[in-house]
Amino acid sequence: MGAGVFGLAAAFACARRGARVRVLDRRGIGAGASGGLVGALAPHAPEGWNEAKAFQLESLVMAEGWWAEVAAISGADPGYGRIGRVQPLADAAAVVRARQRGAEAAARWGRDWLWQVLPAAEAPGLAVASPSGFAVHDTLTARLEPRRAVAALAMAVAALGGQVETGDTAPERGAVIWATGWEGLAALGIGGPEKGQALRLATDAGAAPLVMAPGLFLVPHADGSVALGSTAERKFDDPASTDGQLDAVLARAIALCPALAGAAVLERWSGLRPRAASRAALLGAWPGRPGHYLANGGFKIGFGLAPLAGERLAELVLHGHDRIPAAFDPSVLLAREDWKR
Ligand SMILES: Cc1cc2nc3c(=O)[nH]c(=O)nc-3n(C[C@H](O)[C@H](O)[C@H](O)COP(=O)(O)OP(=O)(O)OC[C@H]3O[C@@H](n4cnc5c(N)ncnc54)[C@H](O)[C@@H]3O)c2cc1C
Repeated sequence: MGAGVFGLAAAFACARRGARVRVLDRRGIGAGASGGLVGALAPHAPEGWNEAKAFQLESLVMAEGWWAEVAAISGADPGYGRIGRVQPLADAAAVVRARQRGAEAAARWGRDWLWQVLPAAEAPGLAVASPSGFAVHDTLTARLEPRRAVAALAMAVAALGGQVETGDTAPERGAVIWATGWEGLAALGIGGPEKGQALRLATDAGAAPLVMAPGLFLVPHADGSVALGSTAERKFDDPASTDGQLDAVLARAIALCPALAGAAVLERWSGLRPRAASRAALLGAWPGRPGHYLANGGFKIGFGLAPLAGERLAELVLHGHDRIPAAFDPSVLLAREDWKR
């Protein structure tokens, strides 16, 4: 249930294992948070390591091959590219912290991925303003185009013999995975929506790295646009509108990266992230409902988590093999009264 990136990733992983799969969405493919513009696949900070961070890292590392397989099976391009990331550093303290993180990254991420602090003027890609004069460059971060990615996943599911249809009546037979985004969390009383606004500029940055600052992503896409995001709004009147908060994101992006000034705005968009009260993903059996499973709480990193989330759920649903971290166990969140809202 739900044709966002979580539902489609799980359906794809199940279909590839030979299962007969049907995906139902009450509005259509990518009609929720997954139909957006940004598509940053950025790792968590390497310090304070835990199983949730390790899961995200494994998903980001496997993403390149996984999305290539989606592309090969569907014949459609998800817009994936491992372009890396540049983060300007605010002050001397941030430079010291970034150097410490570099040591942690080497230990946690392994040798394949670089994390280096360098003079901002030497960072690859778009020229960035950096108050400290320094920036971090990492090579693990990637991007995809969210709408093309979910469309490619739906086509891959169909190519594997599955169906993707409009509807919201759960079948009475077979296993059911509920990947219904913020509405699913709200119905369970364990979370709800966080609105985010984003936009797309007509600026061809080629394969320049993403640029990231607190609360701000600049994501160069393969189609010759740069996506900018995002706001984070717990309180809002209209889920579908964009407003002055998005203008402020654009102004901050231009201050950070002056080359964006004057670029035409191609689109302004808003969506509702599925935010669990725990802020962690929810993956696994639905307590008290045999044969039903939850795949939710992707929050700000749903596209990054989706490949491994889909694969681990398929293992659980089809083979009873549970390799999902305890941190994502739905029964923990559902049992905690203090997290229910
Ligand atoms: C502005 C913004 C920027 C973002 N940037 C990034 C980013 O850079 N990187 C990243 O990884 N993530 C990002 N995210 C987060 C990411 O988009 C989400 O985590 C992800 O899309 C969640 O996917 P989902 O499948 O769980 O939910 P959704 O995509 O919301 O899908 C849920 C679907 O379920 C359907 N549905 C609901 N109830 C039912 C029902 N009862 N029956 C049938 N269907 C139902 C809905 O119509 C919807 O299509 C961003 C989000 C926003 C809003």
